Amino acid sequence: MADSTPPTHTTAHPTPDRPVYVIGGGPGGLSAAYALRARGIRAVVLEKSDHVGASWRRHYDRLHLHTTRRLSALPGLPMPRRFGRWVSRDDVVRYLEKYAEHHRLEIVTGVEVSRVERTPDGTGWLLHATGGRELTGAAVVVATGYNHTPRLPDWPGRSAFTGELLHAGQYRNGKPYAGRDVLVVGVGNTGAEIAVDLVENGASRVRLAVRTVPHIVRRSTAGWAAQYSGILVRRLPVALVDRLCRVQARLALPDLSAHGLPRPDTGLYTRVKQGAIPVQDVGLIDAVRKGRVEIVAAVDSFEDGGKILLADGTRISPDAVIAATGYVRALEHLVGHLDVLDARGRPVVHGARSPKTAPGLHFTGFTNPISGNLREMAIDAVKIAKAIARDGSGSVSRLPG
Ligand SMILES: Cc1cc2nc3c(=O)[nH]c(=O)nc-3n(C[C@H](O)[C@H](O)[C@H](O)COP(=O)(O)OP(=O)(O)OC[C@H]3O[C@@H](n4cnc5c(N)ncnc54)[C@H](O)[C@@H]3O)c2cc1C
Repeated sequence: MADSTPPTHTTAHPTPDRPVYVIGGGPGGLSAAYALRARGIRAVVLEKSDHVGASWRRHYDRLHLHTTRRLSALPGLPMPRRFGRWVSRDDVVRYLEKYAEHHRLEIVTGVEVSRVERTPDGTGWLLHATGGRELTGAAVVVATGYNHTPRLPDWPGRSAFTGELLHAGQYRNGKPYAGRDVLVVGVGNTGAEIAVDLVENGASRVRLAVRTVPHIVRRSTAGWAAQYSGILVRRLPVALVDRLCRVQARLALPDLSAHGLPRPDTGLYTRVKQGAIPVQDVGLIDAVRKGRVEIVAAVDSFEDGGKILLADGTRISPDAVIAATGYVRALEHLVGHLDVLDARGRPVVHGARSPKTAPGLHFTGFTNPISGNLREMAIDAVKIAKAIARDGSGSVSRLPG
């Protein structure tokens, strides 16, 4: 039975029967809901956990934004100055809670959407959600994020490993690893920061397994945030930006080749376009130079007796392995049948544009822009609301004026 009335509301509104459903109560979903509301369009956020900002609540303790406070705020509410320039994880969560409250967003928690499909008459969208619910909306914004489903490589022998093996998503802080020998796998921003955190919390040995040498940038140089450069260069030709970054890196960063981190052959912006954002230095360079974080080859396989075989043939026996190997977008079950994902499971379009085959279906937050994801989601939210107001003007529910 199709029931278009959402279940429990945290904020009550009159219930015109075809809202825009926003799937996910993270920064992307909240900002889209606000932007729709600002245009007088009723938006209902469906969030599977019990709170907004669920991803941020799970992140490790020492995490701070590496984008500036000012350029990380969502539309319609600045972040307070007292949060400082680099906002802590807890303050991001506080901000998201405040954001939902301040804009009086209509949020339904504890509801997971499992599948999105066209209504049989083709005039809207039918969402299948927790408890057999079926919700009908005029348009849908998918804002489920890409850091909820850990990607743990299927290393041969992994299940027989006798040491501790966890994904970075389960890591909170370095205290449980004091005095222990730890291998961190993967040198994205998360792996790099966890390695430093382990050193600072007294791990006896920290090794960082690297498959592809990363680009490393300073979060800020003489007060100039790396994010500013990211914004300035994002429309320049890729080859030019690659060259500029190469020169800048030679001037600003030490050569770590002797420590196992040579300068990458592929340009920084080329890598970004391939989906790999540079590592912001929050202590890795210093730790590598001092030998407190040792760079080792990628993991090949796990062997009996707690041993790990690395790609260069070395065998090591750490007490614990932390896999900072990223996340999968996991959009297949939700929208895969609508022919809106590319071969890598990414939405074919995002922001204001809907896929040709799915008018009124929008995606936000599934890119990894050099200029900062929060900033881009804030910009996209306004564009999505404008597109929905324009294209769905006759079918979306409007709030009383
Ligand atoms: C460690 C880390 C640090 C980052 N630091 C920065 C930074 O400094 N600056 C920056 O600009 N960006 C940063 N990002 C990137 C990005 O801004 C964040 O990941 C941001 O939280 C993404 O927002 P989102 O709304 O797209 O996804 P999320 O924050 O992941 O929110 C998605 C929400 O959807 C819910 N959900 C998922 N599936 C369903 C479903 N089927 N039904 C209902 N609800 C569902 C989840 O519970 C979650 O609450 C960082 C990312 C990570 C992982």
